[in-house]
Amino acid sequence: MPTIDEIATFAKKKGFVFPSAEIYGGMAGFYDYGPLGSEMVMKIKNLWWKSIVHDRENVVGINGSIIGSEAVWNASGHVANFIDVVAFCKKCKLKIKVDKHEIGKAKCDCGALYENLGEFNPMFSTEVGVIKSEAVKAYLRPETAQTIFINFKNVLDTSRVKLPFGIAQIGKAFRNEISPRNFLFRMREFEQMELEFFTHPDKKNDCPIFEEVEKVKVNVLTAKEQAGTGKMESMTMGDLLKKKIIKTKWHAYWIGYRYNWYLDLGVNPEKLRLREHVPEELSHYSAATWDIDYEYPIGWKELEGNADRTDYDLQQHTKSSKVDLSYYDEDTKERVIPHVVSEPSAGVDRVFLTLLMDAYHEEEVKGETRIVLKLHPDVAPFKVAILPLVKKDGLSEKGKEVFNNLKQKFNSFYDESGSIGRRYRRMDEIGTPFCITVDHESLEQDDCTLRERDSMRQIRIKIKDLSDIIKKLSEGEKLETFGKFIN
Ligand code: ATP
Repeated sequence: MPTIDEIATFAKKKGFVFPSAEIYGGMAGFYDYGPLGSEMVMKIKNLWWKSIVHDRENVVGINGSIIGSEAVWNASGHVANFIDVVAFCKKCKLKIKVDKHEIGKAKCDCGALYENLGEFNPMFSTEVGVIKSEAVKAYLRPETAQTIFINFKNVLDTSRVKLPFGIAQIGKAFRNEISPRNFLFRMREFEQMELEFFTHPDKKNDCPIFEEVEKVKVNVLTAKEQAGTGKMESMTMGDLLKKKIIKTKWHAYWIGYRYNWYLDLGVNPEKLRLREHVPEELSHYSAATWDIDYEYPIGWKELEGNADRTDYDLQQHTKSSKVDLSYYDEDTKERVIPHVVSEPSAGVDRVFLTLLMDAYHEEEVKGETRIVLKLHPDVAPFKVAILPLVKKDGLSEKGKEVFNNLKQKFNSFYDESGSIGRRYRRMDEIGTPFCITVDHESLEQDDCTLRERDSMRQIRIKIKDLSDIIKKLSEGEKLETFGKFIN
């Protein structure tokens, strides 16, 4: 696996990600997505949205504003409790953020104990209003979740949702991180994909769809093991629930569902694990939190979190706003404040970084090194590239005809210059799963070659069958189902 610095260099070279304001020297913790990166980000978000909102009848979405009044962040507890501790290594002159529970214990990589430089709140503040005396303080949201809670009543009043139900959102969040490092892993402006899933407080176990995830195999590091030997165990989600390691069925459902999302996208199962938060590190709102971690070159780190936020936020906003945020349960004929039994919260940028790192491979092919991004076809910037063998003899026209047809269905790329071998390599490097070549035979037979990125195998197929075959290959069917290998 490449180091994080190597992947940052690669991502810039290929047009996935650029340091923001680079021509002015850049700004730490800010990045811009280039032509390939923005395609991939869009696909990641669309896949998440489809699986969380569109594929379900009980989840709706919102898109809230980024700047929020002070009242919101006072009520949520962020002004008082969203605190990072700045630790400093005298020897390496390195500042990092540590969790409160690590104070006095955390050590730098060089072995020295960190010095505590004090606490700070990573929220960016601003003022709304141009006349100083009339301006009011506001914050850029450090998480998207609160815009969901403050719209809870609006959604209830307008959407006909009934418990249990979820409200999802994808949007930017901002944290003035003390040491934005490791490329997209720790940024000051990033994007989150969050779901708040609400249940009746007494029905956190009434999950009729748990069997969808019951057999999902996960690597698990429990809070108990972190205090003990630190051993990771392989279990099914069913086991985790049966043994009451995860306490409620709905929480277990969403943790398993999200873990499986990464497996379905082809992420190396050995590099994924679930880690339970130890009691001292739980956020101020959480009854139980589980992280999905990935093993980066910098070690096991959080890829996404999933907290049981209880009724903390709705209670806080009810108290502060004096607006009734309860829910009338028609079955039990009572008003209740629902619980957020599960809050899957993933960073778009961290998912992007993880997929890129996990997909990056260098292989020896005929004495040369081939870089290949083995990205899942659903997240690759382009699904298919159309490459006429040469420009002349009408092959360019034939290639464009194929391209114009395929681009209606898939994100397609057209390239007609340079040697075919080089064009294949370029597509391997940016993860394009399928390449189509048209040659002189294509003009007579109306067929083409289809090359698969990972195996580099080719088959010859009719042009009219292309889109159907690409669709099936993307869904996991084998290349040999559609024709004999010609190389
Ligand atoms: P960390 O411990 O790494 O700072 P966190 O526990 O503060 O993360 P959460 O508040 O749980 O993070 O945020 C949910 C998700 O948002 C994280 O799992 C991560 O994917 C993403 N995220 C949080 N902070 C950042 C950041 N500074 N840069 C990029 N992504 C982030």
